[in-house]
Amino acid sequence: MSKVLRKPAEFRQACEDARAAQRHVGLVPTMGALHDGHFSLIDEAKSRADFIALTLFVNPLQFAPGEDLTRYPRTFESDLAGCRERGVDVVFAPEPGAMYSPEFQTGVSVKGISEPLEGGFRPSHFDGVTTVVTKLFNLAGPCIAMFGRKDYQQWKVLSRMALDLDMPIEVVGCPIIREDDGLALSSRNRYLSTSDRTRALGIVAGLRQAFDAWEHGEREPDVLRSLAEEPVRGAFDRLDYVAAVDPETLAAPSPSPRRILIAVAAHLGTTRLIDNVVLGEDARP
Ligand code: AMP
Repeated sequence: MSKVLRKPAEFRQACEDARAAQRHVGLVPTMGALHDGHFSLIDEAKSRADFIALTLFVNPLQFAPGEDLTRYPRTFESDLAGCRERGVDVVFAPEPGAMYSPEFQTGVSVKGISEPLEGGFRPSHFDGVTTVVTKLFNLAGPCIAMFGRKDYQQWKVLSRMALDLDMPIEVVGCPIIREDDGLALSSRNRYLSTSDRTRALGIVAGLRQAFDAWEHGEREPDVLRSLAEEPVRGAFDRLDYVAAVDPETLAAPSPSPRRILIAVAAHLGTTRLIDNVVLGEDARP
């Protein structure tokens, strides 16, 4: 039976109590509208910890003006049912006012690795993410925290932050969960009309084209990038980026790379989708 906690102090206490009872806390931060991608993080947490805390908070700080904060899907009752079915111990679902008092004036910021890709197109986004996740880490205390590689750069930024700031948190990146046709699960997929849902497969086609070329021995980042870009450009209304970068630094790959991250962000109407594959590591999308 998942217990719903609304107050930060209650959440902190629940995690402290769990540790006092020799349980290992597994943290799964989400913005809700849960799907099988989120559920895979719960399953992974359960395989590594025995007290599972899922947080459900649409963090206003990581949305820029004009982004989809107000229309972001909120499906609390079905999220809770999903958590209960999967044996989540506590669901921490604070009101925004409980996380950010009117006097709130602190931010946590990671430089370098947060600047390319998403950082170039959503300049305040990662500061919002690192600030809220710092708060969640501080409340949860020592734990293992699960993030999806669907938000690949976010995982890398948060891993860096936890290391740099000596946080007692093990940050884990979990594989991307996809639909049968390859589209990565995302809470934002529900914005897509039937025809846009079909067009969204342009991203999958791009990632597969790069993947197949890599499998046939292509190692030139620019060639792999162009192969990924072509179907996205054809299907989407607007492209933020298609990049071929080093999976650790997110900078230009070294000559003869052993792995390359292909990362894509593109718009279909008012919906922005992101996806990626690590060539040399991931399975075919
Ligand atoms: P969100 O609720 O979109 O902020 O996502 C919460 C967590 O779930 C993040 O760590 C995401 O990377 C992860 N996630 C979202 N979609 C997927 C997916 N398709 N596969 C794996 N993880 C995902």
